[in-house]
Amino acid sequence: MNIDIIGAGIGGLTTAIALEQKGIKTRIFEQAERIKPVGAGIILANNAMQVYEKLGLRKIIEENGNPICSMNITKSNLKPLSKIDLSYFEQKHNVKNIAIHRGALQQILIDKLKSTQINLNHKLTSITKNSNGYYLKFENDAQVQSSAVLGADGLNSIVRKNIFPNNSIRNANQICWRGITEYDLPIKYKNELNEAWGKSDRFGFVQIAENRVYWYALKSFKKNKNEFSINDLELYFNGYNSIVKNIIKSTKKEQINAAEISDLKPTNTWFKENVCLIGDAAHATTPNMGQGACQAIEDAFVLSECLDKYEIIKAFTEYQKLRLPKAHQVVKASWLVGKMAHLKNPILIGLRNQMLRLTPSSANRKQNEQIFQLAEI
Ligand SMILES: Cc1cc2nc3c(=O)[nH]c(=O)nc-3n(C[C@H](O)[C@H](O)[C@H](O)COP(=O)(O)OP(=O)(O)OC[C@H]3O[C@@H](n4cnc5c(N)ncnc54)[C@H](O)[C@@H]3O)c2cc1C
Repeated sequence: MNIDIIGAGIGGLTTAIALEQKGIKTRIFEQAERIKPVGAGIILANNAMQVYEKLGLRKIIEENGNPICSMNITKSNLKPLSKIDLSYFEQKHNVKNIAIHRGALQQILIDKLKSTQINLNHKLTSITKNSNGYYLKFENDAQVQSSAVLGADGLNSIVRKNIFPNNSIRNANQICWRGITEYDLPIKYKNELNEAWGKSDRFGFVQIAENRVYWYALKSFKKNKNEFSINDLELYFNGYNSIVKNIIKSTKKEQINAAEISDLKPTNTWFKENVCLIGDAAHATTPNMGQGACQAIEDAFVLSECLDKYEIIKAFTEYQKLRLPKAHQVVKASWLVGKMAHLKNPILIGLRNQMLRLTPSSANRKQNEQIFQLAEI
């Protein structure tokens, strides 16, 4: 069987690795002229690292990243509100949670591919069904005949628009700045993800390598992200702990990127005949639970197992059955967390903080227990 993958993001690359390891031939078509690393970090949670362990990538990812032992929500002054201790899951699944530079992860994934060609500068414009399968047209005038297609082309997926034109993208009305800086965090923060919640805004930071910190900052907007200027970033977070202010100050402005946060309203179908969606193309989520890429990585694992075991339509059916409920649970919970994190009313903020403080750690553990558990195939 030959499979064509549209998109060389974390989802497309991981799927190609998993399929190669099952002896399934793949080609990747990527719109970018070169795979350029986004200037940001990423947290690979326990579920993603279990998949990378199966694919033989755990060790190299650990060597290039930084282990995270707890995920904390704090007040803007960094006083703790809630803490998820990840050591329980480390012991249970025998893998760590790793924070890593996105560029480093991309390079590790590309280096792991053996036979898959990555066709750069190939922006898919349409897919048409014909008697031999599918006819793919690209912006550079290339045309390719394909027997099966995986849409790993992200939130604004052209594959999805071709097979399911009526899906809707939801704007969360939040701007997100991301940056990486040389910064020596106090020792107590070196193996933690901390996310500080303020009033309609929040700031997260984590070490991704020796003296390198990845951070993200979000603010609610009314109409669009142009209401804010990168030059005023320090001002927006002026009321936060001095570590937050120093992290922002230490980052070169030209290395900070800004984006609006959106997700895909959950949909019930991810495939039609021999065309199937994975990753953000199928279930883009807001980043509030740090699970978007982790869910794409789980897709890669489950889909490759299904394609190894079953003929294609049965494989897509089983993949959707195994993956859709959990991916949608993440999308819904993440949307809710985003709303809770950006409350503006001081009374509601007080109640929310009280609730976070009083939630027993067993309840936090239970929620993560489900998220970190891989499907059995
Ligand atoms: C601020 C922020 C922080 C995040 N933090 C985390 C985190 O800590 N942990 C986590 O697990 N997730 C996180 N995520 C989510 C994560 O980044 C995404 O879920 C993940 O990158 C999705 O991977 P993907 O391969 O499905 O899609 P993408 O990464 O979007 O890749 C799609 C690829 O397809 C290509 N493409 C698009 N259209 C075409 C076309 N027409 N033809 C050819 N190629 C095309 C694109 O160029 C791209 O290379 C975060 C997201 C944001 C916005």
